[in-house]
Formats: sequence, structure tokens, C-alpha cells
Amino acid sequence: MRRMYKAKRCPRCGTKNAYSQFRCTECGLIFSRVENGSNKIAKNLIMAGKKDQVVNAPMFPKDVSKKTFMLLCGFLGFWGAHNFYVGRYAKAVFQLIVGLFSIIATVLSSAIPNFDFFMSYLFLPVAIDAFMWMFDLVDGAINKYKIPVAVDFTEGADLVKNAVKK
Ligand SMILES: [Zn+2]
Repeated sequence: MRRMYKAKRCPRCGTKNAYSQFRCTECGLIFSRVENGSNKIAKNLIMAGKKDQVVNAPMFPKDVSKKTFMLLCGFLGFWGAHNFYVGRYAKAVFQLIVGLFSIIATVLSSAIPNFDFFMSYLFLPVAIDAFMWMFDLVDGAINKYKIPVAVDFTEGADLVKNAVKK
């Protein structure tokens, strides 16, 4: 019988760790700190351009409401509302721009004849946006959506480096 190894992926560096590990063997991130990480602090850090201590963790942090996230994603997800809510601004801005353009294009295409050529340029970004929306909704529902949290990992990283040196 083959033995099954249960592994968990480090949300910071992507290394696969044994399920029993409390700290990433590669980057030293202490996993319990991710579970207690704050999304509000992470959003402030992202806005300030300091991403060093921000980790995208596939879970709902304590200061993010799943209900609010799911409602924003369900009703306004095509315009990136849920991504603005949790601070994934690059995705959010892309979705907002595509979302606004598709509204404008829909209005113009009914008013201006021969507008269809412009609509064909919009097809790909709209498809990407719609797929993002769909995957985000599913990931949110199964608690796998990656949400930025602020984590202090400096001490853990140093401990691992020192342990390797010995
Ligand atoms: Zn790691």
C-alpha cells in the first residue's frame, strides 16, 4: 500500500511542507501567524507600497467577513468589488476598468451603427474578467480565496537561517 503524504503549501514562498510542520522549512514563515494575520494592516501596507510582510493566504482572516465578501463578489464581482474589499488592488482595478468599458460599449453599440468591431476587441478582457469572477466566487465559497494578511515572519526566518548554519 502506498503511503499518502499530506502536504501544505507555504502561502509566502510556495514550498510544500509536511502537514505537521508549524513553520515553513524554506522561508521560516510561522503558519499560526498567518492564521492570526490582519487584512486591515495588510491593506495599509499594500497602499504604502510595503509588501514585504504581506502574505496572500487561502483563507478568511479574522477581520474579513466572508458574508460581505461573498455578497460583493456575487453581485459586483464583475467590477472587482470583492478585490477592492480585501486589498487585491491590481485585480480589482483591471476588473473595474473592464466592467466599466463593457457598460459603455453596450450603451454605445445600441446607439452607434457599425460599433461591433469595437465589441470584438472587448471580448477577451471581458472573458478573462468573467473567469476571474467565477473562480473567485468558487474559491471564496470553499475558503480557498487568497486574501492578503500582514504577518511578522522576521524572527522565524532568522531562526531557520541560524539553524541551517549550525
Ligand atoms: Zn515558505
